[in-house]
Amino acid sequence: MPTPVRYADLHLHTFHSDGTRSPREVIDLARSHGIEIVGISDHDNLAAFFEIKGYADSTGVTLVPATELSAEHRGVDVHILAYAFDPVDEHMNQRLTSFRRTRLTRGFAILDKLLAAGFPLRRERVQELCAGASMGRPHIARALVEAGHVASLNEAFDKLLGPGCPAYVGKERFSVREAVAMVKRAGGLTSVAHPSLYPDHRKLVPEVISLGVDGIECYHPDVDEKSREFYLDLAAATGAMVTGGSDDHGLAKDEETIGTVKVPESLVQRILQRL
Ligand code: AMP
Ligand code: FE
Ligand code: FE
Ligand code: ZN
Repeated sequence: MPTPVRYADLHLHTFHSDGTRSPREVIDLARSHGIEIVGISDHDNLAAFFEIKGYADSTGVTLVPATELSAEHRGVDVHILAYAFDPVDEHMNQRLTSFRRTRLTRGFAILDKLLAAGFPLRRERVQELCAGASMGRPHIARALVEAGHVASLNEAFDKLLGPGCPAYVGKERFSVREAVAMVKRAGGLTSVAHPSLYPDHRKLVPEVISLGVDGIECYHPDVDEKSREFYLDLAAATGAMVTGGSDDHGLAKDEETIGTVKVPESLVQRILQRL
């Protein structure tokens, strides 16, 4: 009998960053969609891995150490997914702790700008929504909806929180080379997240790959068929690996996406071999 195909989702968020689900809910939902290889890629945070590794093992789910890093390339915020690194690597954990700290300061700077623009929020409420996780603009977006300042999370980003908006504050970022070096040193691999979401991406992503990123996230809800073809070709031409995931954030985005991306195990062998 042939071995049944196992499916992966290597891009998921929990309430340890800007998602709304617990790691256990994410594992259970993934399983209900027939996904047995899971990467919880919380922004700058590995807490979900440590919290749920035992449970994943007991349910037969392969849990891949993962995180999503924010890097800078030519002024653009490029997200780099990191996989299968040593989750207790000291240098990496120090860097992530420091990024989480600056995310908090930056969150408060956003609240100051919102106040000045006439959209006051209670700092305590934002901290409650964040609950010790990596703070991100989605927490503030939720508070804005809750306070009735905007009608939807998308509106919060389009009107107030996105680049060029009145309450936009950038955050501390890696250079691409630094992110790649850190993950390599910890024994892991990297992939460019949602490649088609960057300005002038067909020019930018090949540059990012040439800086040493190992893969391209060709399968993602925001990568349409035309872009996917382009990036599958780029991966083939450069020897980059292909990765994929749903980038689900639970209710922190206007749409839930878990189950919409299922990548066959054979595609992510290079990552699985490192576990
Ligand atoms: P930050 O890490 O604070 O810069 O926030 C970036 C995060 O905001 C991304 O990782 C997405 O999860 C999220 N995001 C971007 N656009 C939207 C949107 N329109 N609605 C909800 N979340 C969004
Ligand atoms: Fe996010
Ligand atoms: Fe991202
Ligand atoms: Zn993400």
